[in-house]
Amino acid sequence: MQEFDAASLALPGIRELQPYQAGKPIEEVERELGISNIVKLASNENPLGVSHLVKEALTDKINSLARYPDANGFYLKQALAQKFAIDTNQITLGNGSNDVLELLARTYVTDHHEVIFSQHAFVVYPLVTKAIGATPVAVTAKEYGHDLDAMLAAITDKTRMIFVANPNNPTGTFLSTEALESFIANVPKNILVVLDEAYYEYVPSDVRAPSFSWVNTYPNLVVTRTFSKAYGLAGLRAGYAVSNAKVADLMNRIRQPFNMNELALTAAMAALQDEAFLQNSVQVNAEGMAQITAFCDARGLSYIPSHGNFITIRFGANSAEINQKLLEKGVIVRPVAGYELPEHLRVSIGLPEEMDAFYRAYDEIVAEAQHG
Ligand SMILES: *Cc1c(COP(=O)(O)O)cnc(C)c1O
Repeated sequence: MQEFDAASLALPGIRELQPYQAGKPIEEVERELGISNIVKLASNENPLGVSHLVKEALTDKINSLARYPDANGFYLKQALAQKFAIDTNQITLGNGSNDVLELLARTYVTDHHEVIFSQHAFVVYPLVTKAIGATPVAVTAKEYGHDLDAMLAAITDKTRMIFVANPNNPTGTFLSTEALESFIANVPKNILVVLDEAYYEYVPSDVRAPSFSWVNTYPNLVVTRTFSKAYGLAGLRAGYAVSNAKVADLMNRIRQPFNMNELALTAAMAALQDEAFLQNSVQVNAEGMAQITAFCDARGLSYIPSHGNFITIRFGANSAEINQKLLEKGVIVRPVAGYELPEHLRVSIGLPEEMDAFYRAYDEIVAEAQHG
């Protein structure tokens, strides 16, 4: 009789995966370190919380939760289509945009294919690639951002998909509309380009790419967006892809019918209506970003200029130690050693008082180090 060997029976791509490492939840730090009043600046969440329109809509929905959600998300797709001047049949809804990233890989990539992304890019790209058993091709970054020419040069006969994050997480780097469009135009049409715009709303409107309209010009382009960041719904899981209608049709065939639940559908629709909340979120972020860069400049800390709601700061060789000391002082930030940035920590932009807690904790750590 043979022994049951869970690992060797699993698909080779999955056997070698490292699970996604999320930012430490507040409750976990409370439990482990026995402290309270914790500030979490680790997962690029919206520090303003949830729009009041969302709260009201969710309260109303509680009584209908015994019913299955609308499998096609009719009303949310209508709302998105109207807001962004696209067709409802171009939209694929997801349980967070992570879900649509995975759907894309599962729709188009096999274990014979190569998938290109940038060094220091979002960790979900290698994750979904390896899960399928496809070959990840990480292209060396240029000034921490995507080197689009090198990414074009990395294309082979086996390339099937290219992920581009704009702005990128965890570096916050940003590609101009011109650079991006020229890249997309130069990718052969038998390769899908997935443009991940999770931080789109934080980009000033005059420099945003007209990415949804590009989908009509470039049928191999898929754009993903999320309600997790500026819209403040990370806990609910709501994201979507906009693509050529044929791509959307194929993705919808393997999508779990109820992958976006009733509360997520409801909240996303309400969030789309609260333009004031969105504006305020962007404003609070811009102010926090100006303040933290000034803080870094004053202390001689270098950082990667960011277009998102976070900033990745270079603390040097003892960044892991600084991370631990910040935790002990109740400030959770995000180590990015897993992104080949071992000397950096990523700090999400929080409310002014949360940022103050980070500034205070960092200055204390420096002072304590100086006094031995
Ligand atoms: C946060 C983030 C997402 C969004 O994830 P959700 O699954 O929608 O919460 C996608 N891409 C990048 C680059 C991100 O940083």
